Amino acid sequence: MDAIIITIGDEILSGATIDTNAAYIAKALFAIGIDVRKRSSVGDIREDMLREIKLALEEYDLVVVTGGLGPTDDDITKEVICEAFNTRLVKHEETLETLKMRYKQLGMTMSDIAIGLSLQPEGAHLLINPLGTAPGIVFERNDTIFCSLPGVPSEMQALVDSGLIPFLRERETGKVILFRDISTFGMPESKLAARLLDAGYKPDGIRLAFLPSYSGILIRLRAEGEDEKKVRAILDQNVSRISEIVSEFVFSTDSESLAEKVASLLKEKRATVSVAESCTGGMVAKLLTDTPGSSKYFTQGIVAYANEAKIDRLGVDPRTIKKYGAVSEEVCREMAEGIRHISGTDYGLALTGIAGPGGGTDEKPVGIVYLGIADGEGVSVTKRSFSGDRDVIRTRSAYTLLNLLRKRILKL
Ligand code: ATP
Ligand code: MG
Repeated sequence: MDAIIITIGDEILSGATIDTNAAYIAKALFAIGIDVRKRSSVGDIREDMLREIKLALEEYDLVVVTGGLGPTDDDITKEVICEAFNTRLVKHEETLETLKMRYKQLGMTMSDIAIGLSLQPEGAHLLINPLGTAPGIVFERNDTIFCSLPGVPSEMQALVDSGLIPFLRERETGKVILFRDISTFGMPESKLAARLLDAGYKPDGIRLAFLPSYSGILIRLRAEGEDEKKVRAILDQNVSRISEIVSEFVFSTDSESLAEKVASLLKEKRATVSVAESCTGGMVAKLLTDTPGSSKYFTQGIVAYANEAKIDRLGVDPRTIKKYGAVSEEVCREMAEGIRHISGTDYGLALTGIAGPGGGTDEKPVGIVYLGIADGEGVSVTKRSFSGDRDVIRTRSAYTLLNLLRKRILKL
């Protein structure tokens, strides 16, 4: 079943509202095996809406529309639907009753505008809106299912979950679409792709997508078919093959984030960690405490920004700072040892660098970062150089330190 999602509203076209509705609907449809082939947006202009809806009805098996179902003048979707389906608005008693009840609860009298809400296209199947007054409108014509939902995200979501999806399920698409993610860190997507190619890997019965972010690159695998077991097996085979080829960069095949992975490793090993950070201003501590239950392994984070803080709070030797500078391998080493010592944790992490835009020198340019890990076996410091703006440098530094900790725990 091929679907199109059309979102309606001037505010979406102008960028004032980000179209989150289409993303929500697409995910819900994908989950029951319906392929979304197109997404489009039109403004609150009658002709534009009508043209888009008519075209969609000709070309797709399922048309989902959101927005413009309210009672105000700019909400003209219902009228356009009537035109597209050659029908008219008639009073819908159930909706009117719901409205009367709502208004009574609020102690208000109903206006004509509110009564307009009870007018619905004749011949439509209506989906009850548990959170509002405008119901979802469904038409089935010539093998095409059409569904119009309110624009308010909470109402739209409730109608998708309790109305549209069960309705579509009854019509069984007979197809499943499944996804699996391979989460990697430390290798750009072009190189990951080249590595797969060099190893002779070709996607077999699946589609591959590389989704980059500062927390790593997700290799997303998508497979579809009639038999769920077979689809899972195809995904499993491909996940194993890819993971084997780029193994040293893979940290999860179970959709865990890097922070979650580190958290579960620390819990598994019953190990504890503390962190001393400078230019990341607490980002590493934040990442380490993102997962519920982090008190089991995280004891404290110190943001030692000024030299005095590094000296007073972490015990860094002032002579080391004087000799090598605050952003140096030596200071990073002492920060890691210091935080581990004062916290009494298994691991002590440290991060010092130049996030920019100012503060760089020829010898130590913006983007240079030292990442340290101290444990019972000693301290290791890694020097890295990141490009990008301040935020990018800080984010990449923080995630890189997490990844180094992951490798250290796994002794990789
Ligand atoms: P209402 O009864 O509130 O008028 P409606 O069905 O007419 O509901 P709209 O007027 O189009 O819906 O939008 C109502 C609210 O929902 C607005 O705040 C709008 O920004 C938000 N909204 C509409 N469409 C989307 C969308 N595609 N993604 C996210 N938010 C949306
Ligand atoms: Mg509206």
